[in-house]
Amino acid sequence: MDQHPALRRKDFEALDAGDPLRPFRARFALPQGLIYFNGNSLGALPRDTSARLARLVEQEWGQDLVRGWNAHGWVDLPQRLGDKIGRLIGALPGETIVADSTSVNLFKVLAMALQLRPQRRVILSERSNFPADLYIAEGLVELLGGRHELRLVEPDEVEAAIDDSVAVVMLTHVNYRSGQMHDLKRLTAKAHAAGALALWDLAHSAGAVPLALAEAGADFAVGCGYKFLNGGPGAPAFLYIAEQHQAQVRTPLSGWFGHLRPFAFDTGYVPAAGVTRALAGTPSIIAMTALEVGVDLMLEADMALIREKSLRQAELFMQLFDMQLSRHGFELVSPREATQRGSQVCLSHAQGWPIMRALHQHGVIGDFRAPDVLRFGFCPLYLGYTEIWDAVAALAGIMHSGEWQRAEYQQAVKVT
Ligand SMILES: *Cc1c(COP(=O)(O)O)cnc(C)c1O
Repeated sequence: MDQHPALRRKDFEALDAGDPLRPFRARFALPQGLIYFNGNSLGALPRDTSARLARLVEQEWGQDLVRGWNAHGWVDLPQRLGDKIGRLIGALPGETIVADSTSVNLFKVLAMALQLRPQRRVILSERSNFPADLYIAEGLVELLGGRHELRLVEPDEVEAAIDDSVAVVMLTHVNYRSGQMHDLKRLTAKAHAAGALALWDLAHSAGAVPLALAEAGADFAVGCGYKFLNGGPGAPAFLYIAEQHQAQVRTPLSGWFGHLRPFAFDTGYVPAAGVTRALAGTPSIIAMTALEVGVDLMLEADMALIREKSLRQAELFMQLFDMQLSRHGFELVSPREATQRGSQVCLSHAQGWPIMRALHQHGVIGDFRAPDVLRFGFCPLYLGYTEIWDAVAALAGIMHSGEWQRAEYQQAVKVT
């Protein structure tokens, strides 16, 4: 027996008709007929991006050439765009900057956190964290001579594992594979109570859930430009350093853009004031300009409405899961409880890979995370309610017909 009153497609159509965020959909250049659940992996293309980039390339670069660094303010773009992202994550002005990739930024701020706690040796994280974050921590531990320890626990053990040996608690706010969301404020307070620092990876949070880093007292953070911020493939990332730490920290990648006077060409490194000291080399202006279009678009929307729609979409997806999918061997991986979930719903299935491939063939784009997780990310700026109904119907149809068993869906590819 179904747990929920029967839902019908027209209920979803009605939600679309009354959706205050619906106008944003037209601001994205999504292919006709495609249902996109992968904005948490690669965000969609904002319509304004192409024209903005064409102007940048043809006019600003093509005609103005090197004069553009001053004339078009390229030289301050990392700070300017950083402050815009800062508004999305609840940072104070001057705490956020755009640079490099999430991985490289994590390396930098993790090194800074360890500098601030020289007597302590432990980086506390979770085994199910995004592996790349753990690889970065491993590399830093090795570089620092192996005196530190990367201590890994299960998500529900983190709080109890914060003790006075811990220098920094390094967590991803929303887990990439389960969608589980930590209580950022509580764990930050817990870290501080033990004399430790809190470093947050916001890759699956920025632009997806309301954040209040400054209010929570977070020490450091990093995040991704190409997921919910719609900056394009390999877009630059951002980092955040709480104001009170900025004067005390040094970047391990002490490049000239983080120098106090890069164009004095002095011998000897002197760090710039503020978060600028976290820069290494020349910013990628083309890539940052694309990211700026995505961020500007996100800033037009009300984050509370984004969260409200995301949660409603996830709730409906889970109701449809109960009605149509659970009987086909799918399990729900994501928490049912809204406060513990980011903006994605993940299912597991032993045949997850060929099933997701078959779903792609039906124009529904989610992704697969080894060994068995099917991920569905919700980007409320462009994902409609009726699309959720249609996607689940397609998935149920694939299970019903057994279409996923076709040989062509079994092959491996490089990027999942
Ligand atoms: C996507 C993601 C990254 C990406 O790092 P890159 O340096 O851009 O490859 C890092 N951490 C987490 C948790 C992510 O989800």
